[in-house]
Amino acid sequence: MWSSGRSEAALEAALPVPIDIRPLRSARRLRLRFDEARGMLKLTCPWRTSRRAALAWALDQRDWIEAQLARVEPPQPFEAGATIPVEGEEVRILWDPAASRTPSLTAGALLVGGPEAGIGRRVELFLKRRALDVMSREVADYAAAAGVTVRSVSVGDAGSRWGSCSSTGRIRLSWRLILAPPNVRRYVVAHEVAHLVHLDHSDRFKALEARLYGPGVSEAKAALRRIGPRLRRVGRGR
Ligand SMILES: [Zn+2]
Repeated sequence: MWSSGRSEAALEAALPVPIDIRPLRSARRLRLRFDEARGMLKLTCPWRTSRRAALAWALDQRDWIEAQLARVEPPQPFEAGATIPVEGEEVRILWDPAASRTPSLTAGALLVGGPEAGIGRRVELFLKRRALDVMSREVADYAAAAGVTVRSVSVGDAGSRWGSCSSTGRIRLSWRLILAPPNVRRYVVAHEVAHLVHLDHSDRFKALEARLYGPGVSEAKAALRRIGPRLRRVGRGR
């Protein structure tokens, strides 16, 4: 989401779980641990460490943090009988060998046909296509409102990032956003489109983001942080 000159709030929001930072007179270096019971990070650091520096350092430990989360909360593979979120609604994967191989979404269920072996791959492909369809339209709407041109929109699964954009007008979004409620997904889309105008998190950027998205930016941001770890586990494993 654009890393240069990130504010404390932006750094903190980029962490997948809440963090408690404690400067200690006795601490000689920064130290991070994961409190499983509370589902949060605890960071101790030397007395004079700034909050911003501590957050930036914690963010650099992202791989380690993700590994801790994965250990505590197992992945949720796409398989017959599993319940997954699609656009924020809980949906059950129903497997019927006689049904179409292309999954179809009906009230509360995702019907998948074909051999059992390929269910995971077919469900993921279905969700990626839906993610690209839905978010391409949203990008176009926000871009029109912002008066900018978008060169391309693509979906991927780029580690910890929900979205990114380039100065040449390309937007890349995580397909996992299609699992999230629409207001959360739209927040990321509006955020990235606003970056096509302002390549920073300045006040002008925030004003544009708020104009495009409408009220509720901070609520959507907080919700993404809360549900993010689950969205990252869905469809993994097996
Ligand atoms: Zn950003």
